[in-house]
Amino acid sequence: MRISLAFLLVSLAILTAVSQVASPSVYHPSVVADNQNDSPFVVPVKIDTYGDAWSGYLAFGLWQFNSTDLSVLHSYLVVMNTKGQLLDIRRSNEIPSYWPVKYISSDTLMFMGEPDSLATHFWNMKTNKTTDFPNVWGHHDIIFNPSTGTFLTLRDYVRVIDGRNVLMDKIVELNAAGDVLWTWDTYSDGHFSLNDECPCNDTTGASSGYLPGQTLIDLTHSNSLQWIFDENVIYVNMRALNTFCKINKTTSQTIWCLGEHGNFTLYDANGKRVPSLWYHSHDVEEVQPGIFSMFDNDYHNTTRPCQQTLNGTISHSRMLEVAVNEQNMTARVSWSWTAPSAYWTPYWGKEDRLTNGDRLGTFGSQSHYVPNSSGAVLVEVNPKGELVRSYTFPYGWGIYRVEEINLQTLNDYDGKWHSNDFNVNLATINAIGGATDIYYKINDGSILNVDKNGQPRITMPGGNNTLEYWSVDNAGIEEIPHKMLIGIGLNETSPANSSFTANEQQLGYAIVFSLIVIVFAVVLSLRRMRKRGQRH
Ligand SMILES: [Zn+2]
Repeated sequence: MRISLAFLLVSLAILTAVSQVASPSVYHPSVVADNQNDSPFVVPVKIDTYGDAWSGYLAFGLWQFNSTDLSVLHSYLVVMNTKGQLLDIRRSNEIPSYWPVKYISSDTLMFMGEPDSLATHFWNMKTNKTTDFPNVWGHHDIIFNPSTGTFLTLRDYVRVIDGRNVLMDKIVELNAAGDVLWTWDTYSDGHFSLNDECPCNDTTGASSGYLPGQTLIDLTHSNSLQWIFDENVIYVNMRALNTFCKINKTTSQTIWCLGEHGNFTLYDANGKRVPSLWYHSHDVEEVQPGIFSMFDNDYHNTTRPCQQTLNGTISHSRMLEVAVNEQNMTARVSWSWTAPSAYWTPYWGKEDRLTNGDRLGTFGSQSHYVPNSSGAVLVEVNPKGELVRSYTFPYGWGIYRVEEINLQTLNDYDGKWHSNDFNVNLATINAIGGATDIYYKINDGSILNVDKNGQPRITMPGGNNTLEYWSVDNAGIEEIPHKMLIGIGLNETSPANSSFTANEQQLGYAIVFSLIVIVFAVVLSLRRMRKRGQRH
């Protein structure tokens, strides 16, 4: 009897703690953080909408180049909504800063760049606090694994092969102090040799600080990483080889490579066997099992003569998706969107799937090497291949890769049957664009609002209650798609119904047991102390 009372009290305490964590917090939107300059910055973007487009937030490094010689003038880290309104900004006058920008938690971005060029930083947009990891540096990409607290990035090094100086890459896993915990070398296991060198003269000068005055063969030019945490698998893209590899991080073994120098037979969209499906691509990512998306730059396309100077009028970058069959070792184009030559992007670029099913392409180079070129262009295309929105920047403004952020609303429903009417509490967890309204519909009824109508209350007996809910910010940015909670159970006729799960009961018993042990231990030690006190 005493145990069950204690169990109830402890369980109630646990439930209260849990519901406090999940309950909506008051969110104070961050003011525009302008670190180095007080002059207002307006994002130089022209947005054209042609169809039903995604709404949310975009975070990216925006680079302003001198329009005559294309040297870098300024770097900005821009956070804007899909209407082009600026929400947050950082500025740097360094060489291109803010390379990869990643959204890592509700209020926080991770970026490589300012104040120390290629090092990693976390930036909390709400508090404007920056956390620096000066020894976590690399090139092109950075991944943070929250469960290990470690980072994955790319580092290059010079290897002498057949008497020639060749720039190669390693994947490195680093802890927050920058200690190298694990590496994988693009030269390992003899996957690639100088025979695989791009025929269009991929070289790099001494700008990277290696062997000043000498020219290095840029054999691999790795530029993107994906770490599938639960399988501990890594995908690494090597731009200059037109190939990406799947690596078992646990064993450090390469499972396969796919592309011009890989293990798969390649088929284009017409089923025709081809030597390569892409040319010097960026940002390879497995987006669903067996489907990989990437940005195919169409640079050094060896079905044409090598270009001596950049010329966009004959080239077409595209968003590309490839279906991979690991049983029969084939890969074929499953979806693509080819841009007009006016968007040709010989370097940088990204393809992403948005939460509404559309694709967003970063055709990001600051020039497309055509007459009257614009700068970076972002393109939203629906699955049918229809252009629904474009974001056009002026000539001289470049974007490496864009990160999309969806407004997100959470509910605190515990998934159980309740015996009395109850609330399902809703909260926006990332009000990046400022205060939000949360709307909802219970059982497909009328649209209600948390501010005006209170949190949704479940009053209809039965197991099929539904709750559709979504956030909308001050600027009208709406969470897409709406969230849907189904099978909410209310059983007012069954008083015997327990609201505790087996796990919560076990946890409650464990805590009660621990408390009893602690009480016994305290009592015992007090008695011992008293006994000792009696002796002396
Ligand atoms: Zn090349």
